[in-house]
Amino acid sequence: KNVILEVNNLTKHFPVGKGRNKQTVKAVDGVSFKLYEGETLGLVGESGCGKSTLGRAIIRLHEPTSGEVIFRGENVLAKSRKEMRKLREDMQFIFQDPYSSLNPRMNIYNILSEPLVAHGYFKRGEELKKNVLDLMEKCGLPPYYCYRYPHQFSGGQRQRIGIARSLALNPSFIICDEPVSALDVSIQSQILNLMMDLQEEQKISYIFISHDLSVVKHISDRVGVMYLGSIVELADKEQIFNNPQHPYTMSLMAAIPKPDPNEKMEMEMIKGEIPSNVNLPSGCKFHPRCPFAKDICKEKDPEAREIAPDHFVKCHFAGEF
Ligand code: SF4
Ligand code: MG
Repeated sequence: KNVILEVNNLTKHFPVGKGRNKQTVKAVDGVSFKLYEGETLGLVGESGCGKSTLGRAIIRLHEPTSGEVIFRGENVLAKSRKEMRKLREDMQFIFQDPYSSLNPRMNIYNILSEPLVAHGYFKRGEELKKNVLDLMEKCGLPPYYCYRYPHQFSGGQRQRIGIARSLALNPSFIICDEPVSALDVSIQSQILNLMMDLQEEQKISYIFISHDLSVVKHISDRVGVMYLGSIVELADKEQIFNNPQHPYTMSLMAAIPKPDPNEKMEMEMIKGEIPSNVNLPSGCKFHPRCPFAKDICKEKDPEAREIAPDHFVKCHFAGEF
């Protein structure tokens, strides 16, 4: 397995408040993982756990506070603006709401040709047109749509446009932030299947961010579970869903209603408030909600340990439950 992306101890801290009330939000708090070529790594967690911030920090839409991002052997955080622009051809982003990122005054043809022209791949002309229409076809958009504007499309079609745009420069890596969360369930699976087909065809690696366990289960090869800015468990999808080893993951899986397998598995709130990531709990950040917490958990933040090949758990008692 080839590693395409390596994230080491990445943090993103935001200052909040002023003067004496000044505090730090640790949105991403020391995250490390590897992404393999052609795989989908799902990142799942409750809202506010830092998964979107992590996604943005990796491609520097939010500048990380510290840590390391290595993409295809290149040190991403050391790149100049100009080098970053070149690198972003290969690292793309798909947003939850493509509408807000599609220029309402541009038709689909112009939206899709823009990156190709701006990055110098084509000048206006037949070759460009062929490329744009191919892109549309690949994403299930008929060619006669090309002179329509974003507001003339449904949510699912707009996400197809968002996907087509992210594919224009032939990337090998795409971060997808809740790409189907705004869509009806029936449309969701069409879009997920499209993304999986494109991945297969073009050998793309995805990081797929979602709060929806059923969506993550559908699309992921491996899953990382996030809690208050940290990945607390990372393993193959089967392990996460059938053999969870971190108490937080166990509680998420236990909250899934069993009887109807087609039922949407929304993240359910487990016992207790989510502590704010301004005043993070001491030691293991999950200890105030953890039924297995012992004294050491309040004092010492556990390291992520590999308890089986490629199964990482950030808990003092991992493997002992
Ligand atoms: Fe629970 Fe302690 Fe493990 Fe944290 S380290 S998850 S508090 S048992
Ligand atoms: Mg989010």
